[in-house]
Amino acid sequence: MSATDERAGRRVGRVKEISSLGNPVIKEIRGLGLKKNRDRSGSFMAEGLKLVIDALDLGWQIKTLIHARSDKGNPAVETVAARTVAGGGLVLMVTGKILGAITRRDNPQTVCGVFEQKYADLADLAPTGNETYVALDRVRDPGNLGTIIRTADAAGASGIILVGDCTDPFSLETIRATMGSIFAVPVARTDIDGFLAWQSGSGARLVGTHLAGAVDYRAIDYTAAPSILLMGNEQAGLDPSLAGACDTLALIPQAGRADSLNLAVATGIMLFEARRHLLE
Ligand code: SAM
Repeated sequence: MSATDERAGRRVGRVKEISSLGNPVIKEIRGLGLKKNRDRSGSFMAEGLKLVIDALDLGWQIKTLIHARSDKGNPAVETVAARTVAGGGLVLMVTGKILGAITRRDNPQTVCGVFEQKYADLADLAPTGNETYVALDRVRDPGNLGTIIRTADAAGASGIILVGDCTDPFSLETIRATMGSIFAVPVARTDIDGFLAWQSGSGARLVGTHLAGAVDYRAIDYTAAPSILLMGNEQAGLDPSLAGACDTLALIPQAGRADSLNLAVATGIMLFEARRHLLE
């Protein structure tokens, strides 16, 4: 058997056509909707051809590529399928019904990928220059977290730190809201003590946001040192021990009757102010 035949043979062995919702591999992929299954397998699912290509380009490990039968012969999908097989992954050609079931959508994307979860090691995040990081205290809402990851990417932030009991960044809802930015922005996780130990050794300025903040967020010089923008929980705001450790507590002034801003909106406002000098 020539090297080409051998490659072709392997490729055939790693490509399967599936039409039954009862197929065990499909059941396992559907199971990724539950956190306990994502934690056990260390996997998560992302939808859309562009997202899958971006993920591969950024070095994420694809375990399974799932695509509609109708995409067979589509050059872009074939290229992604070949990359998946070359990396040791599996390619599944499935029916529209199966795509609908695994994505829980009426009009599903025709391409999905199951990837290996990847957290950044906090010790590897070393703020320098005028970098900006976002730290989130017990963020609970998947849509908020996904939107913040996407916004951090757009603003050129260097990473996200999840502090305490946060929602899973690899849930389908969060991944959807990131629109692919999950693959571009390092996400680390830790507890309050771990975060404060890392921050104090990092040389970065800790800018907490708080409804009782004494400093207008526009009055802060974000260029003097790297900044960590610390955002509070949706219901409880910032934990007092975190608020007490901040170098500055910033307020976004509000008009009107709303008590506070949505967490993702407040984070977006802070990020674009902190990065303003670099975006102009
Ligand atoms: N009830 C909470 C409280 O008392 O803090 C409201 C939390 S708010 C929905 C979520 C987070 O967004 C806050 O902890 C803070 O980090 C940020 N935030 C929202 N509005 C803000 C504002 N006007 N100024 C500063 N931070 C704000």
